[in-house]
Amino acid sequence: AGWGVFLTILAHKAESAGRTLIAVNPAGTSRTCARCGHSAKDNRLTQAGFACTACGHAAHADVNAAVNILRAGLALRQAAQAA
Ligand SMILES: [Zn+2]
Repeated sequence: AGWGVFLTILAHKAESAGRTLIAVNPAGTSRTCARCGHSAKDNRLTQAGFACTACGHAAHADVNAAVNILRAGLALRQAAQAA
């Protein structure tokens, strides 16, 4: 199935589980530091490793990106509630 169908199914699954689905633009989330916001290709020296060249924050790359995606989703939800 394409992304549109997948997101539709996922939205229904989330709703029936009492959860909210928020689609987030992932651009830059894997190279941006979840601690200080520094965004650079050099933050990713390996596929799995994240090491911020600005503040020294180190984490698994997927965990660092997940924190950024969560933050982006919560910001979108807050913006939607404020509107
Ligand atoms: Zn940093």
